[in-house]
Amino acid sequence: MSYAMSLPLVVDPIAGESATSLASRLAKLNGAPRLIAFCSDLGISHRRLTNGEPAEIEHIAALAGQAPEPLLFWTPQHFGPGWFNLGCARIKFTAFSRSLTRACPTCLQAADLRDPSFQAGHRGLWQLSSIRGCTIHSCALVTLPAPAANKDLYDFARLAERYVPAAAYRIPEGDWELERYLIDRVTKEAGHRWIDTLPFHVASQAADNLGVLLTLGPDTSRRASAINNG
Ligand SMILES: [Zn+2]
Repeated sequence: MSYAMSLPLVVDPIAGESATSLASRLAKLNGAPRLIAFCSDLGISHRRLTNGEPAEIEHIAALAGQAPEPLLFWTPQHFGPGWFNLGCARIKFTAFSRSLTRACPTCLQAADLRDPSFQAGHRGLWQLSSIRGCTIHSCALVTLPAPAANKDLYDFARLAERYVPAAAYRIPEGDWELERYLIDRVTKEAGHRWIDTLPFHVASQAADNLGVLLTLGPDTSRRASAINNG
């Protein structure tokens, strides 16, 4: 299916942004009170969009006047019970944290929250629980205030309006290695090392456990892991 017309008001692309984030920014700029209302007005299934169905992603790309390929790459696409495609990786749902929305405080600070053409996006990678930082600003992601309704979890531009700015925590250069490995698993075809043969969610858990061990030491690792795993 092709959608020829873009909206009269469109936002600039942001590298790595998911289709839901782009849709949320378009909704805000075009005066819709919520992403879900915007989808309904334009004949887009909000549920299918949040599940990353390609037809809905392509519809959003056309409305934005953007190429669909980057959005298809960076939006987690549900393809079977409990599994998503993201970039080059097939990832079990347990590696995602899709019940909260995290963002980079420096990206948010750089955008004017009152500007309707809000220039901060939510990157698809940030839906992965082991991705804890913004690679552009080298700072830790923060959790945005939860929406009143779960259906608004992907309405990034609206959630960002309720964010209270706080000082960003800079992640030391040496602490990025495990995260970079996981990002490579998403952006590149899998390699041939032992860890490359592990399913993503297992490698992600291993990276988390090793990170706890490295930062807190062996004595605290078990307790911290237990907290991490609920
Ligand atoms: Zn950032």
